[in-house]
Amino acid sequence: MNMNTVSQNAELWNTILSTVSEEKEKTIFDAFFRNTKIYDVDGNKIYILCESKLTKEILRDRFSDYLSQKLLQHTSTNYIPVFVTGDDIKEKRKFVNSSTEELSYFKNSILDPNYTFDTFVVGPCNSEAQKASLYTATAPGGIYQTLFIYGGSGLGKTHLLNAIGNYIKTNMPEKKVLYFSSQDFLNEYIDFVNGDTRKEQLYKFLKKFDVLLIDDIQMLKDKRKTQEFFFNIYEDFRQNHKQICFTSDRLPGELEGIDQRILTRFTSGLSVSVTKPDTETCFNILKSKITASGSDLSNYDEDVLFFMADKFKDSIRSLEGALIRLNFYASINKVTHIDINLCAEALQSMVDCSDAKNKVSEQKILSVVSSYYSLSISQITGKIKVGNIVNARHIAIYLMRDLLDLPLKKIGTIFSGRDHTTIMHSIEKIDKLLKTDEQTQTAIRELKKRLAS
Ligand code: ADP
Ligand code: MG
Repeated sequence: MNMNTVSQNAELWNTILSTVSEEKEKTIFDAFFRNTKIYDVDGNKIYILCESKLTKEILRDRFSDYLSQKLLQHTSTNYIPVFVTGDDIKEKRKFVNSSTEELSYFKNSILDPNYTFDTFVVGPCNSEAQKASLYTATAPGGIYQTLFIYGGSGLGKTHLLNAIGNYIKTNMPEKKVLYFSSQDFLNEYIDFVNGDTRKEQLYKFLKKFDVLLIDDIQMLKDKRKTQEFFFNIYEDFRQNHKQICFTSDRLPGELEGIDQRILTRFTSGLSVSVTKPDTETCFNILKSKITASGSDLSNYDEDVLFFMADKFKDSIRSLEGALIRLNFYASINKVTHIDINLCAEALQSMVDCSDAKNKVSEQKILSVVSSYYSLSISQITGKIKVGNIVNARHIAIYLMRDLLDLPLKKIGTIFSGRDHTTIMHSIEKIDKLLKTDEQTQTAIRELKKRLAS
């Protein structure tokens, strides 16, 4: 019943009562009608609130038809008056409460079975977050009772949150796990702003769980009441040694519109970040997504994967989108073997593909050199100064200059922003070794052969 109907009801009832007062004796009117009100209108029933049980019975038994007539006169509608007392209403509320107590909330918030630790590819960008999540999943409610994962969009936060949930469900089936996004929460919560009882029910419902996984708390911006509610839940979980995990798409310090006191608590446990992935992690993610989808990895040229990994580093979600588009393009063109030309055609509407060939060659050198020396690409392009890594790095730099004729500065940016003199030094070093050192000669010969194939 909204405010408008309440005032409309009151107006209607006043008109009816004034007619009644004209038609009935004053004592009758004062005794039975004067203090009545419309409590609610539901379909063709008008609930009339009476002062006492006696008034209710008298009105019902002696004046029901009379009031129906008056209602018809004033509204042209066949209303049936139903007489109730304050106690009746309380009874009715109790009934409503007991039936809604069984209600379950967050019906759409189910864990995604594909988001597990097994399908999560670990790289430098997310290894801390992955370790923290895995640890939390193995010991929910343990020392890291509150886990806070933050980082940009499409970098794996929701995946990790679901992985925690799926892990606990599989390994500790007695634990009750609930996952929901803050938006789901707001949708549920909106219904409760007018009703403390229902709010209490939601509170009770949430307290039944052992693990709450709450996604995207940045959505709670400026929602003071909801934040307060979360805070109470948080306190309850903390005191009962239960687990709460949050994610946010921005740094705790950048979460505007969230109460500082609440934020401090939420981040008082373990806070970890996911950052943008490097090319190698993207490459591994692509491989894992291709295999997971049941496709054959050998249908994709390696330079295709490197090209994509390099182009879609900003978001793993967009990387996945690119793969879907590429597969779609290949299937409508009935192509099974995916090479760089097809890739460039398929993705040109998404990214600049004009450099597909060049980009790939640098990546191809990195890939071939790294597998030749059994190192990772990030070791080669990174800063570690260990003998065999440094040697492989010199070789890769040399090949980029020799085969691609890349400017020294450009090579420098590929190798962690080294300056051009350092790059020059590497090239000179290999030049010199090639004159005398047999191992270097063999390596360069073999690598060039592999790169040509
Ligand atoms: P976020 O919640 O941070 O915006 P998501 O968790 O929704 O990002 O990730 C976007 C997509 O990228 C999902 O399909 C997810 O499976 C995938 N993804 C993200 N990180 C990884 C990873 N390290 N390994 C495998 N897939 C990942
Ligand atoms: Mg997310």
